[in-house]
Amino acid sequence: MPQGTLYIVSAPSGAGKTSLVKALLEHLDGIGVSVSHTTREKRPGEVDGVNYHFVDRKRFEEMIERGEFFEHARVFDNYYGTSRPAVEARLAAGEDVILEIDWQGARQVRAQMPEAESVFILPPSRAALRARLAGRGTDDEAIIERRMRDAISEMSHFDEYAHVVINDDFATALADLEALVRGQRTRLARVRERQGKLLASLLSQDEGLQ
Ligand code: 5GP
Repeated sequence: MPQGTLYIVSAPSGAGKTSLVKALLEHLDGIGVSVSHTTREKRPGEVDGVNYHFVDRKRFEEMIERGEFFEHARVFDNYYGTSRPAVEARLAAGEDVILEIDWQGARQVRAQMPEAESVFILPPSRAALRARLAGRGTDDEAIIERRMRDAISEMSHFDEYAHVVINDDFATALADLEALVRGQRTRLARVRERQGKLLASLLSQDEGLQ
């Protein structure tokens, strides 16, 4: 059975990661995003089972004990984790899977699956990042400063990733991500796995095999 490719996508809050991943899924078939578990409060508009599986601390700890997480981390004030069985089943079914996780989770995934492709999304400038973090509502300066500090802390890990996409022009950043996925799909090993019959028939001198 052909294996899908695992993609790790990380970014500071405000870099546009979620919108880029959403648009990527609209452009490509055979790829999906893993829905993480988290202990954080649901934000307005978020749906359980769609944005996250929202669980309490007790349930999260039980999942850790049972080894149900592929990776998990405390990110700022909350816990987040990726379900191992869910991801493994999708990869085994040949689907490409995106993990939208932080740098700590990315390290855990790389340690277990070095062949995973990792991408870090950066904002085009510090000013643009600040504007995006401030533009979310009527938050006061202290909250915006805290978000900036958290964003800088996450960004300080960009050099642990194989790919870096700068989200200046959205369409260009999306094309960069799409190129990465399409590039993986043309790799010889993957084409051999999925198109074995076609490759054999193209090279056959026996008309009956075509
Ligand atoms: P938010 O609470 O804003 O949705 O996400 C906060 C941070 O948690 C983001 O950096 C996001 O990438 C990270 N995150 C979301 N899900 C997971 C996960 O399953 N594992 C890890 N390690 N980080 C996650």
